[in-house]
Amino acid sequence: MKTIVKAPLNSRGHLPLVPPGTVAQEKVRFPDLADLLARLRFSTSDGRIWLDDQRMLLIHAKSMGTLRREMIEVLGMDVARGFLTRMGYHAGVHDAQMARKVRSKTSLKDMFVVGPQMHCLEGIGISEAINLEFDVEAGRHYGEFLWTSPVEDEEHIRHFPIGNEPACWMQIGYASGFSTEFMGRQVLYREVECQSMGHSACRIVGKLVEEWGDEAVEDMRFILPDAVVGASSLIGGRPASEVGRPADVELQTGPVGVSPSYTAVLHMVRRVAPTQATVLFLGESGVGKEVFARTLHRLSARSTMPFVAVNCAAIPEQLIESELFGVERGAFTGAMQSRLGRFERADGGTLFLDEIGTLSASAQGKLLRVLQEGEIERLGDTHTRSVNVRVIAATNVDLREEVKAGRFREDLFFRLNVFPVRITPLRERREDIPLLMTHFLTKYNRLHGRRMTGFTERAVDAMLSYDWPGNVREVENVIERGVILAPDNGAIDTSHLFTSGERFGEQRFEIGREGRLVASDPSSFVADPPSDREVDRVSRRVNNLLLGEGGDCDNVSLDEIETLLLKRAVERANGNVAAAARLLGITRPQMVYRLKSRGIVHDGE
Ligand SMILES: [Zn+2]
Repeated sequence: MKTIVKAPLNSRGHLPLVPPGTVAQEKVRFPDLADLLARLRFSTSDGRIWLDDQRMLLIHAKSMGTLRREMIEVLGMDVARGFLTRMGYHAGVHDAQMARKVRSKTSLKDMFVVGPQMHCLEGIGISEAINLEFDVEAGRHYGEFLWTSPVEDEEHIRHFPIGNEPACWMQIGYASGFSTEFMGRQVLYREVECQSMGHSACRIVGKLVEEWGDEAVEDMRFILPDAVVGASSLIGGRPASEVGRPADVELQTGPVGVSPSYTAVLHMVRRVAPTQATVLFLGESGVGKEVFARTLHRLSARSTMPFVAVNCAAIPEQLIESELFGVERGAFTGAMQSRLGRFERADGGTLFLDEIGTLSASAQGKLLRVLQEGEIERLGDTHTRSVNVRVIAATNVDLREEVKAGRFREDLFFRLNVFPVRITPLRERREDIPLLMTHFLTKYNRLHGRRMTGFTERAVDAMLSYDWPGNVREVENVIERGVILAPDNGAIDTSHLFTSGERFGEQRFEIGREGRLVASDPSSFVADPPSDREVDRVSRRVNNLLLGEGGDCDNVSLDEIETLLLKRAVERANGNVAAAARLLGITRPQMVYRLKSRGIVHDGE
């Protein structure tokens, strides 16, 4: 589906900048924002403000300005800009998710302009669309907006003189995050004119990141946590020429993400990289433990020395020791010559041991010795050899449980567990999905010589709501499959992505009890209202308990009370689960979980 909204342009392809007010006659018309306003609730009884199912915060613009100034003074312009840009980015992602729900029945354009409208509603300033043209399937996006009275500029100008750099960082992060989530492709908005530079209004332009030239490299640094685009820290960041195109080669080797939990992992990796500490990566299969291990190696002083990876589970138990520690000639029949083990091959560098929990008891003992003494002994050898290897281990099992069960040595566990780093499963950091989609689309287009333009809206929707039990690796596999199956120069659809078992139709989906996709069409949430008898029985017993009234002396079960409250809340909210959740002061996911685990609602299947 293609959506074009255009106003007359000048020869440079821009609408001439005119004072606010005169723009009004040419701006793109936004729909009434009453539907958005209706999602905003002040719950004064418990001190919460809700925007749909997201808790919001009303803060003073001036206090934000003070925080901003102090961040700039203490951390420097670049670091402060990075923090605020990413903060805005996440807000944009959340609002785009809401836009899909609130305007699911309207045109795509109306759904998209939830972004600029929320900008206004959230008090950021007025946003006018001058030129908005996007096509989700063809992977095209061009947006040009004018911002007047932006809160960030007001605060910037209050503390700093007019300069030659734009200052609407949080806001540009918001626009980029919103559009990226909406398109399922990495979109970058840049502020080409800004009131903090002396212009009468701020003008922002957005395109897919790969359509920008080198100037985007600078700006992507503020959106992506830095190790993604290279080894440098944002503090005293490197010149753009060294950083590399973000959507290009560099991205293919490093981890990919923007979510807070992803950033936290990257931060820990950066901290520990320059040391000699043993690191233990924890997390489900497919979360990218080896990718982080490689990044750690690249950021360490050993980066010019070998990085050797071993998947302990992939090597038969009787071979693992010779594989790791090497074999001396004549050690056993057939050992005609000496062979280096992985430890010796990694000498001076890093050895990555994946699925460490599967090591045999004997191999565990030898590994402990390397970690303690820095020495190995080849199979069949009579003397020891010293090696200088940094060990990074990884596991998807709970090693403490393995220790308890007697399958893993406790002393080895403590040796390995010096610096544990847990990588969050993808379903708990969904903000990373659009970026991963862009990343793998580019990668496999190039690898297979294909030219997929992007994803259909339906595919974007499905990918953003799917549970990804196989994590990043599953995203990668699914997109590679899509790139191969979809017709060239076209968009990847759900049928190209999910071919085996997952059922995708025309509906929207969400995660059900088993971690599977289920239809989230509101009409399929069927809740039976409580019966009069149930209400009567439970309330009588509650009264007995609370007020000591006579009559029925049976015990009252908390479970029954909760079930009744849940049913009643859904009834009062006319089946709107988010509204029912608000009535009970819990989040929508908590509500859904409770309703489903009690069998109160059923997925419409
Ligand atoms: Zn500005």
